[in-house]
Amino acid sequence: MLGLMQHQSLLVSSLIEHAALNHPDAEIVSRTSEGPVHRTSYGQLRGRACQMANVLTRLGVQQGDRVGTLAWNGYRHMELYYAVSGMGAVLHTINPRLFKEQIEYIVNHAQDQYLFFDIGFAAQVAELAPQLPTVKAFIAMTDRAHMPQVDIPNLLCYEELLDGADTDYAWPELDENTAASLCYTSGTTGNPKGVLYSHRSIMLHSMMACGMDGLALSGEDSALAVVPMFHVNAWGMPYAGAMCGAKLVLPGPSLDGKSIYELMRDERVTMALGVPTVWLMLFRHVDTAALDPRKELCLRRCVIGGSAAAVSMIERFEHDFGATVVQAWGMTEMSPLGTVCRLLPKHAALTAEARHKIQAKQGRTPFGVTMKITDDDGNTLPRDGKAFGHLLVKGPWVVASYFRGEGGEQLDANGYFDTGDVATIDPDGYMHITDRAKDVIKSGGEWISSIDLENAAVGHPAVAEAAVIGIAHPKWQERPLLVVVRKAGHDVTREDLLAYLGERVAKWWLPDDVAFVEELPHTATGKLQKMKLREQFRDYTLP
Ligand code: ADP
Repeated sequence: MLGLMQHQSLLVSSLIEHAALNHPDAEIVSRTSEGPVHRTSYGQLRGRACQMANVLTRLGVQQGDRVGTLAWNGYRHMELYYAVSGMGAVLHTINPRLFKEQIEYIVNHAQDQYLFFDIGFAAQVAELAPQLPTVKAFIAMTDRAHMPQVDIPNLLCYEELLDGADTDYAWPELDENTAASLCYTSGTTGNPKGVLYSHRSIMLHSMMACGMDGLALSGEDSALAVVPMFHVNAWGMPYAGAMCGAKLVLPGPSLDGKSIYELMRDERVTMALGVPTVWLMLFRHVDTAALDPRKELCLRRCVIGGSAAAVSMIERFEHDFGATVVQAWGMTEMSPLGTVCRLLPKHAALTAEARHKIQAKQGRTPFGVTMKITDDDGNTLPRDGKAFGHLLVKGPWVVASYFRGEGGEQLDANGYFDTGDVATIDPDGYMHITDRAKDVIKSGGEWISSIDLENAAVGHPAVAEAAVIGIAHPKWQERPLLVVVRKAGHDVTREDLLAYLGERVAKWWLPDDVAFVEELPHTATGKLQKMKLREQFRDYTLP
């Protein structure tokens, strides 16, 4: 017997309609590429998204067509989120920090019909344009006065296009499984692969993000999304914000510590989201300018993901900012949220130190994500907090296969996707990433977690950043090498660091050597680029 309730497709367009009806005045504040801070509201944004949908229809964009963006976090980018997906086309957000060849590859692979870009990327677009045969026109996301003076064929102006267009648009009733947006993985191995999100996956993911055990985003928040809209939809914030009416603060191209701090202060930001590198820059600014964030800001929580949040970072947010760190783990293939680290009632009585240890784990799965860990043969390992193995996930916002079939079948016989991470799960369901499968150090048949070593090392007051890689060893197969960037004005020796680590990690995990460098290589999304580092230290011999 079937239930007798209404069926309504879960569509992205319904989010912006809901927002415009129920919290039309909630703000969207953007720092723009042109310079000034711009203020709009969900009500106004809906009108402009409708205008853009009318413009795209006029330009001949059909349902299923891909429309690319090369843009920072800002209101025009958000208008495109709703206009493109809402009309049934596919928003393809492109990471501008990728190499030119990678961008060329993904635009051609996605067969983008139009490419919208922030004016700061004009030179890049001019260089790319001749290699992008499917792109019919390039649209600079600005007004006539700020149009870039570069040679780009078929160059159009965003504001000129919108001018006079109808502020209403009849969003089509799509099947909720229709593709809504496309994001390519960073492609650390081989070519980037496209993850094609559906309206349904985005909507379910947004509902989870607004839940108390998700990101708990609500209409009371002023949320600063430092995490880029070109990378996994800024962790879903442009959608979840419209769902609950949170004020959204979008930093544009200015991601330095000073700009972020000022936005937090001026926009009364209660919640901020970003990768650890961004917060390190913020800390540096607070130190240099001798600021008192506890007094000046009203930050209540900071969502950290993309790479592990070190205990020292969790402590600092709590102590200096009065803010709770909520660690989250996920990946492009998971829309991206897979786990969120929140405490349970039984943790209330813990000391700060014990609590921070739990907060340094990646967290528990919200309803919608199922995870397990397995050994090399696919046998499920126990949830005892000790056994570590390959982390596999399934759920309605997890990828089933990549765009245009790249990479072949992605799921195992039980429908699980292998994340490429290695983790433990404890009896309360807290998952703890111990490594990427390819970064784990295999020493004498045992696994050493490079991430645990890095987290321990950055706890040292003189260490700005640390990376651990495996170096070939005649007896043990591999042994860890600690590579360190010292904090400016601090001196620390190899012996100091090894003594410090000696008190914090198992003896056989202790790195065989320490190398000091000026900086570590990072990917476009701020992650340590271990492949590059391994290359750099390829001929290194351990003492
Ligand atoms: P994103 O950067 O949005 O998380 P990517 O797909 O680029 O998405 O990278 C996903 C990978 O990043 C994960 O598989 C994991 O290795 C790493 N990662 C993400 N969040 C965390 C976290 N909180 N702690 C440790 N590693 C993380």
